[in-house]
Amino acid sequence: MLQPGSTIGILGGGQLGRMIAMAAARLGYRTHVFANETDAPAVQVSGAATIAPFSDTGAVARFAAAVDVATCEFENVPAAALRRVAARKPVLPSPSILETTQHRLREKNFLRSIGVPTTEFREITDAAGLAAAAAEIGVPAVLKTVRFGYDGKGQVLLTPEMSAEDAWRRMGATLGILEGFVDFQCEISVIVGRAADGHRVAYPAVENRHVNHILDTTIAPATVPTVIAAEAERIACHIAEKLGLVGVLAVEMFVTKSGKILVNELAARPHNSGHWTIDACLTSQFEQLVRAICGLPLGPAERHSNAVMKNLIGRKVADWRDALDDPQAKLHLYGKSTVRPGRKMGHVTRLLRRS
Ligand code: AMP
Repeated sequence: MLQPGSTIGILGGGQLGRMIAMAAARLGYRTHVFANETDAPAVQVSGAATIAPFSDTGAVARFAAAVDVATCEFENVPAAALRRVAARKPVLPSPSILETTQHRLREKNFLRSIGVPTTEFREITDAAGLAAAAAEIGVPAVLKTVRFGYDGKGQVLLTPEMSAEDAWRRMGATLGILEGFVDFQCEISVIVGRAADGHRVAYPAVENRHVNHILDTTIAPATVPTVIAAEAERIACHIAEKLGLVGVLAVEMFVTKSGKILVNELAARPHNSGHWTIDACLTSQFEQLVRAICGLPLGPAERHSNAVMKNLIGRKVADWRDALDDPQAKLHLYGKSTVRPGRKMGHVTRLLRRS
């Protein structure tokens, strides 16, 4: 067990790192952030920081020497940097898990190998392969880059009108994955925490609504039949178990119109769809991560309130003051000084009576 007073290293300086650092501080831990800018959201609230690119091997070594355990708040920390830290200090969740979840093909192959249903998919290496796969899977279908895709970036919806050459060119990478288009009823996610001794705690399934591929609203709990929520939670726990996770894992899923669950994506870190847990649950997803990686007992994931979380995206952040006039609303701002379209600037969680 890592005693309070120890230092948690956070790779990445965004809002997830900021909220991890705040949860860590509450339990008496120090944090040291590795980020590429001095005013990054997580750096603002941490006692120590290394400001450098992940490619700076000396900076990565100095960071590793200064921390007792490290975790990632950002999906795409390069594998080489992760391995370099892991050679010196524990990295949790382990780098091998992150290497699976940061690569869509590896992720889907892993899910298939453990019997978890996903939409149909094919590996694509050129336009001819794309045309053949589209003929097998059917269109519409979604062509995605295997890496560095988030919030809909690197995705092309392949329609009957679009040629394979055009779609391949638009995606603009040398390796892709073609997924069958899911005409879903809703999107849900489950966050699960898992400790080194195998103890697991799942948060209730929530419903996620996206606008322009970016998460806009999370409704907690999801208004799906109890059997679907229970099955989603079972699937998330099964994945965490098979990954040998120590930390938290978010599992994004589609619920099809016929009531089937298909897993879309994994993130082995706290997730935007779990921000509501800060204000509405006995233990937030961020505290759960700190507990798991420091070897403390996991906390209860039970909610004391239902909640609706809305992201403040881009210029919508200008409305932040409205939240302070609503006694049921909790405002979270991430300290970002530059507003850009699509940029997550903060969120508001509105608490509702528990149903
Ligand atoms: P992703 O980056 O894979 O999480 O995709 C972002 C969003 O695009 C998802 O939350 C869905 O709303 C949509 N999407 C992604 N893949 C598919 C798919 N195969 N079928 C339908 N919608 C999808």
